[in-house]
Parts: sequence; C-alpha cells; structure tokens
Amino acid sequence: MEYVVPARIAKLQAIDPGEIRRVQLVLPPYLEIKGRRVPLLDTMRPGTAFLAKPWGSRTDKVRRRMYTRSNSSNQEPGILETFINHTHRQQADTSIWWQSQIVDDWYEKEQGIDVRVTFDEDQNCARVYENTAVCKESNLRLEPDGEWEGRRLVCLAFGTGITPFLSYIRYMAHGDWLSSARESHGHMTLMVSARHEGQLMLHQELLEIARKFPEHFQYIPVLTRSWPNDWTSLKGRMIRINALSSGEQEIDLSPLQTSIPNIAQSDLRICGSIEACRQLLQGLQEKDICPVSVRKESW
Ligand SMILES: Cc1cc2nc3c(=O)[nH]c(=O)nc-3n(C[C@H](O)[C@H](O)[C@H](O)COP(=O)(O)OP(=O)(O)OC[C@H]3O[C@@H](n4cnc5c(N)ncnc54)[C@H](O)[C@@H]3O)c2cc1C
Repeated sequence: MEYVVPARIAKLQAIDPGEIRRVQLVLPPYLEIKGRRVPLLDTMRPGTAFLAKPWGSRTDKVRRRMYTRSNSSNQEPGILETFINHTHRQQADTSIWWQSQIVDDWYEKEQGIDVRVTFDEDQNCARVYENTAVCKESNLRLEPDGEWEGRRLVCLAFGTGITPFLSYIRYMAHGDWLSSARESHGHMTLMVSARHEGQLMLHQELLEIARKFPEHFQYIPVLTRSWPNDWTSLKGRMIRINALSSGEQEIDLSPLQTSIPNIAQSDLRICGSIEACRQLLQGLQEKDICPVSVRKESW
C-alpha cells in the first residue's frame, strides 16, 4: 500500500524564467492512516530524493517523479525544497508543467501536490519516502554522521545537479561546521557549472557560507556560455572535448585540474546530466586519476 500526503506549494521562484524554478513544498504535520492520526516525521538524509506527483503537460495526467531535496531536514523540517529545470527533451512532460503558469495558479489556490510517505506501523509514524536508504556509487546519499566529517569532498555539479550538494552544505553548515568549527577537519569544495549568471542557484547564500566557514567550504561557480564584465570566478567549460586528427575525441580536464589540483586525494561526488558525468569519468580514467572514492548521480 502506497501512502501520500498533499503538500502545499509554499514557494515558487523563477531562477531563470521558463528554465529553472525553485520549489518548496510544505508537508502536513499529521496524516490519517487506517483511521488513526499519525505524525509525519521528516528524517530525510541529505543527498536523497523525494517522490512527488506533478502534472504532465504532454501526457495530460498525474505523473510520478523524483526530485532531489536541496534543503536539509535538520534546518527546515517539513519543507521539501528542490530546483526543477525544463529538460527540453522530446519526451519532456512534467518539466514543462513546472515552468508553466498553471503551477502559479496551483500556488495561488494552495492546491496540493501529493508526496509519497512510508508508514512505520511499529513506531506509529510516517516518514517522507527517500529514493535510497544506502550509500552506493550510483547515488549521493550523504554518508552517516561520523563517516563524512573527515573527508575532503570535491563536489562537481552541472545545472540542477547542484541540489544534493546544497542539501549537504546546509546540513553541514547548520550542524557540524557551526558547532565544532575549528576541531572538525572535513572540507568540501563545490564547483558549479551554469550557462550564465542568472542560472546560478543560491549563489549569494553559497558565497556567504564560504565566507563564514572558509576552513570547511570552498565555492567555485563557473559560467560556461556568457558572463558579466565584472565576473571574477571561472569562465568556460571545465571539461573540454578536443577533436583529434584521427577522428577520435580527447577529453581535456586541464581547466578543472588547474582549479582543483588535488582531485586524486579527494572523495569525488558528481551530479548532472548523464553526458557530463560520463565525459568527466572518462577524462579521469584516461589521465589515470583515481580519487579516494567516486560517487555520482545523473538524471
Ligand atoms: C533520483 C532522482 C532525482 C532527481 N532530482 C531532480 C531534481 O532535483 N531536479 C530536476 O529538475 N529533476 C530531477 N530529477 C529528474 C525528474 O524526476 C524528471 O525526470 C525531470 O524533471 C524530467 O521530467 P519530465 O516528466 O519532463 O520528463 P521525463 O521524466 O524524462 O519523462 C519523459 C517521459 O518518459 C516516460 N517516463 C519517465 N519516467 C517514468 C516513470 N517513472 N514511469 C513511466 N514512464 C516514465 C514518460 O513517457 C514521460 O512522459 C530526478 C530524477 C531522479 C531519478
């Protein structure tokens, strides 16, 4: 039996109009199961995704889609935030709807979107459903507390692939970094690639966190297509594809290595399109660069 709760759209912010939206869904504190009033607990781990039921503009029906949460349950329990982009793929369905005026109408009318929950009969409570309960190479669920703190994480995000890392950063900044700023040795570098400045997500918040916790967090935004005159961070693609005279392609990681020279000593985490992740991993393999660990997620 699958259980869902209606979540209210509490925030709908155009990051890049028609392309990327920031969405916040507010969960009810209780739900009714088998005639019982059951509390809904938010224990989602950073890096995991929730399942919601948005509308499909192409298929004209309710669909089931996963969205990686970008905030953290320790900081904002009961509020599921994510960033959703228009994929522009031929089969695009719900991603069109999320950018449409219809969602603004749902927001105005406080119309709910169903979110999947799991029922724990023994504990008599429900929890937000998470796409994964175990850390694997193919997902970005954050390692258990006590295991991530000593790592040197290098997180590379392409577009909305930033979502799991936003959740990491907010979880860490609100918890460990705040309470044990100088004793903890963990460090995270986040490199985010976006086409233009308007597509950077939570840019100011990330700059602020980097200012506040310089011993723990480095933020490297990269603009790949256009940038303002006063842009001081990186420009252009960090992974370049060079066509060889043989007709083959060579993956050039030198811009990435110049900015992050110690990739081989890091725990590498990657999130973004299948193609971007593939090119990066191929480039590392060709250069014999073997990070301490590699985990990636694409959608
Ligand atoms: C773990 C995970 C996390 C994700 N996190 C994010 C995120 O943070 N932000 C974001 O923008 N996107 C995220 N996505 C992708 C998101 O779930 C959607 O796939 C994306 O928004 C595109 O949706 P779409 O409906 O336009 O197209 P698609 O999901 O590509 O669907 C296109 C067509 O494919 C078929 N199809 C796809 N899925 C199913 C299915 N489950 N059952 C049956 N048919 C199907 C249908 O014919 C559908 O019309 C995530 C996906 C996963 C798996």
